[in-house]
Amino acid sequence: PRPHPTLRVRPLTCTETRRGDQQVVHSLGDGAVHVSAARHDATFGFSAVFDAGASQEAVFEGSGMRQLVELAMDGFSCTVFAFGQTGSGKTYTLMGPLGQSDTQPASPALLGLMQRSFTCLLEQSRSRASDLALSASYLEIYNEQVRDLLSPGPPCALPLRWSKTRGFYVENQLSVEFESLEAIVSLLLQGSEPQARGWDIRESCPRSRSWDSAVGHGEGVMGAKASPPNVVLQASTCPSKQGTLCFVDLAGSERVKETGSSGELSVEANSINRSLLALGHCISLLAKPRGKRTHIPYRDSKLTRLLARSLGGSGITLMVACISPSSRCLSETLSTLHYASRARRVTTRP
Ligand code: ADP
Ligand code: MG
Repeated sequence: PRPHPTLRVRPLTCTETRRGDQQVVHSLGDGAVHVSAARHDATFGFSAVFDAGASQEAVFEGSGMRQLVELAMDGFSCTVFAFGQTGSGKTYTLMGPLGQSDTQPASPALLGLMQRSFTCLLEQSRSRASDLALSASYLEIYNEQVRDLLSPGPPCALPLRWSKTRGFYVENQLSVEFESLEAIVSLLLQGSEPQARGWDIRESCPRSRSWDSAVGHGEGVMGAKASPPNVVLQASTCPSKQGTLCFVDLAGSERVKETGSSGELSVEANSINRSLLALGHCISLLAKPRGKRTHIPYRDSKLTRLLARSLGGSGITLMVACISPSSRCLSETLSTLHYASRARRVTTRP
């Protein structure tokens, strides 16, 4: 199968509306989306397009996410990745407005793909075999280091190794069993909030707000530094049949082109560059017909190593491209749309 590229166009934000941004993206129905601006006029095709009016539930039901959960239960490696520029709605799509208000939990209608998938996974596991165990792990890649977000204390880098039987895997990664939605959501929150892990954000990052985004939520410029955090859920019936469902909130794609930043920031920008460029490179090589394919350089970045199985080999991938409809985001929007249409040609053999 091919990855199902799904597109989500978020509504114009209040700020965008107030300053009079034009809406340049229009859904035409049947998976087609049209971009029209002064010197641009292009149509792109997707498996599904969700526009500003689409609810979180509509995205869950219409993107094939439910089927993906079932496939993970059947033992396949399934991956969902959200990509697009900072502020395009990646985190909102995956997690909803998680942690935006500390006191009030998000309204059920706003829950993202992750919480909905967890619910579905738990329902499935209850109705299937009784010896089935669900466990979760939560990682981020920061400056080309893989860090465990569930281990207590300051993050430390874990080695990413390769073995013939397992492919690439993270050594000593913490994996926590869960049996309820509350349990898995609290793991998600724990991983998403550095404070909850008991260390001071200012010590480890000069710009705490960006650290915030580095684990997957926030807005504005914050997401730019984010390394792609992953939540990997493992559902296993017996050792020979272990399905995984992996969610990847990619770093803001706009950093790829940014140059001229200095010091620490530039190290971060470079490693994000490296990850996203490597991912784009692997995707374009995978998109070639099987006979013409050369070696796929998964080893070029931590991100592509982690995603090797889901991208190329035996995995099933759902890609959610996120864009803003605003005229001000036009060039990033076009680059996201091109990136996504390229991924459409990749095929895998699960
Ligand atoms: P990203 O993770 O891509 O940087 P966010 O998910 O943080 O972007 O979204 C940026 C802002 O837009 C947030 O304030 C978020 O609540 C809002 N937003 C994103 N998508 C939607 C949507 N579909 N409906 C309403 N608000 C949205
Ligand atoms: Mg984000």
